[in-house]
Amino acid sequence: MATLFISDLHLSPERPEKLALFYHLLSGPARDAEALYILGDLFEAWIGDDDTTSPHYEVVEALAHYAATGKPLYLMHGNRDFLMGPEFEARIGGKLLPDPFIVNLYGEKTLLMHGDTLCTQDIDYQAFRKQVRDPRWIQGFLQKPLAERAAIASNLREGSRAATRQKEAVIMDVDPAAVSQTMINYGVRQLIHGHTHRPAIHLLEVQGQSARRIVIGDWYDRDLVLVYGAQEPRLVTASALANP
Ligand code: MN
Repeated sequence: MATLFISDLHLSPERPEKLALFYHLLSGPARDAEALYILGDLFEAWIGDDDTTSPHYEVVEALAHYAATGKPLYLMHGNRDFLMGPEFEARIGGKLLPDPFIVNLYGEKTLLMHGDTLCTQDIDYQAFRKQVRDPRWIQGFLQKPLAERAAIASNLREGSRAATRQKEAVIMDVDPAAVSQTMINYGVRQLIHGHTHRPAIHLLEVQGQSARRIVIGDWYDRDLVLVYGAQEPRLVTASALANP
């Protein structure tokens, strides 16, 4: 048995085929797994636990159904769905993990992150992140009517897309120095994250010791799942997992 990790599915009504694939994963391969971790940006947008528009309601139902089978379900906030809150957590019956979070994976102490905090060269993004993660900003935002929140979130996404087009690719990737420092701070030699949409298994050296950074990958183009078990971890498409 293996543990499955996914991230950056960016589920939205615009990509029904990815929704279908996600439901398929939950009712099939994830049931045969030991646990399922979703490391952020499960949703393209999450503007509050009271938003039950499609496909949010259906995804919550599917997650609740999965958790009800008794399989451990863990979620972490991404930069798009960091407003997933206690009501959402209670409804799905899974656990929202803080970012970062340390887990023991088959004997290997491993740090789990969404990954956006490692992109320290993206100064504008980090300033924006600081602003919207401020509890006062969050409180003010959640008090607005849903329609207004949806409009604000949509504007923010458009602004982010415009800014992204201007930025160099290297700025939007993780900063190697931030990766090393974070791994040293938490005393780990393995890091698993998403966010950058650059799936890979990187071998690196941290303080003279071999280390590993696994980047899960997104479901915009691919639909990758990290399968982590007794064998070497591998990135497999959800379609391949569902139809072996
Ligand atoms: Mn992200």
